[in-house]
Amino acid sequence: MRILTGGFSHESNSLNPIITGEEDFVVLRNDKVAGEAVLSRHSSAGIIETLKREGADIVPTVLARAVPNGVVSASFYHKIKTEVLDRAREALKQGPIDGVCLALHGSMKVEGGLCAEGDLCGALRQILPDIPFTAALDMHATITPALLRAVDAFAGYKTAPHVDSYETGELAAGMLLKALGTGKKLYTAAQHIPMMIAGEKSETAAEPMLSLIAACRELEQAAPDRPAMLAASLLLGFPWADCEHNAVTVLVSAFEEDSNTADREARKLAEEFWRRRGEFKFRTEYYNSKEALAVAYAAVLEQGERPVFVSDSGDNPTAGAAGDATEFLEELLATIDQADRLPGPLLYCGFYDAPAAAACAKAGEGAEIDITLGGNWDKLNGRKIPLRVKVKKIVNDFGPYHSVLALVSYRNILISITSKHIGFGDEDLLPALGVNAADHCLVVVKLGYLEPCFRSIAARAILATSRGCANEVLESIPYRKVRRPIYPLDNDMEWRPPSAT
Ligand SMILES: [Zn+2]
Repeated sequence: MRILTGGFSHESNSLNPIITGEEDFVVLRNDKVAGEAVLSRHSSAGIIETLKREGADIVPTVLARAVPNGVVSASFYHKIKTEVLDRAREALKQGPIDGVCLALHGSMKVEGGLCAEGDLCGALRQILPDIPFTAALDMHATITPALLRAVDAFAGYKTAPHVDSYETGELAAGMLLKALGTGKKLYTAAQHIPMMIAGEKSETAAEPMLSLIAACRELEQAAPDRPAMLAASLLLGFPWADCEHNAVTVLVSAFEEDSNTADREARKLAEEFWRRRGEFKFRTEYYNSKEALAVAYAAVLEQGERPVFVSDSGDNPTAGAAGDATEFLEELLATIDQADRLPGPLLYCGFYDAPAAAACAKAGEGAEIDITLGGNWDKLNGRKIPLRVKVKKIVNDFGPYHSVLALVSYRNILISITSKHIGFGDEDLLPALGVNAADHCLVVVKLGYLEPCFRSIAARAILATSRGCANEVLESIPYRKVRRPIYPLDNDMEWRPPSAT
């Protein structure tokens, strides 16, 4: 049994002007696809290890992955697509391929607006027309008609923050193996719900996602009145891409003989999701940038809480924002006298600014230099801010993306700067700079909901609905392509799921 596999994952924020290019991706080819530790918890590892365990022969193609960012360069996308297709054609010359299982995100966009996954899977389907084809998707996948036509069955993440990527890969591979083992055809029922949801309102530890996901898990078990569905997934879409396909999608994958049940259950899930639309809310206290700072200063200085975390959430690189918006920084500098009164340095993690990181690395630890911070990319929500800083620490070649890290101080503020667009929620980043966030009374981080490494130490978490390419206030984003009506932009709209998919 020969199974073609690989993956191409990116969450592309079309509001961010950065073009994500070849240098931003980690790309593994051929045999390396099956054995790279850097992606050990990724859905691709779940797929490959499941297939191997069941004795399948892996036909590896390409595994390419980058941190969320702006849309993907057209030339790089087509290069990787061509490699995947060439590899499939070559493998066919050596014998039949029995199935395909890919690790995808689902919201990768290419320069010019192309929805990548539907295009890639559609092209692969032309080469491999009659074999079962399954895919693992991120919960924030945007489901297009082209993707539904190309792929037979899907498994989406069931957790946000995402901690079940590996298990989702196992489920996707398992469906393929069941189809091959039984000779039964696969089927997917889809229901698109006209809704967009900011990620920070849809954590799966809280309602309504908690019980909606529980309903998905229940469907994957047999019940007295119906067989088990192979996978039931809620794909929430990605609101920071301006795309005609933006929506929440319910996908229920099953054997074709159970298609009526899959249709009925997808419709029921969609109805329930829509009924509970008003319950998607921020789980932490939230304010605009100015108010968030005022609340945070009071928490530290008057209530003695520490560390207090403030998310500069509009510029969250893990949601594909540029990481160099300065709206929050400008509010912070406007209140610098209060920051100076804090009992210890305020920590700001941080800024994606390659020129500033290079200048700090060149000057060296201990140097005092003039830099500008931010505003290289997100010029709508920021500008270059001139600062005279002291370079406290430099780290070269950090992590799989080989970033320079710099830690600088400006008055009572410590700021981390990265030369690569790698985000700031990485639990290894601050230790590499010799910083322990728990030692700081006030920590600002360009992130939405706090990653577990921060959440576990935060005495209080405050969400600043700051401006940036991942603006949490969707109603304020000037969408042009998103189909209307859509909730919550059209707050009082009516909707019922159509009975046929
Ligand atoms: Zn996601």
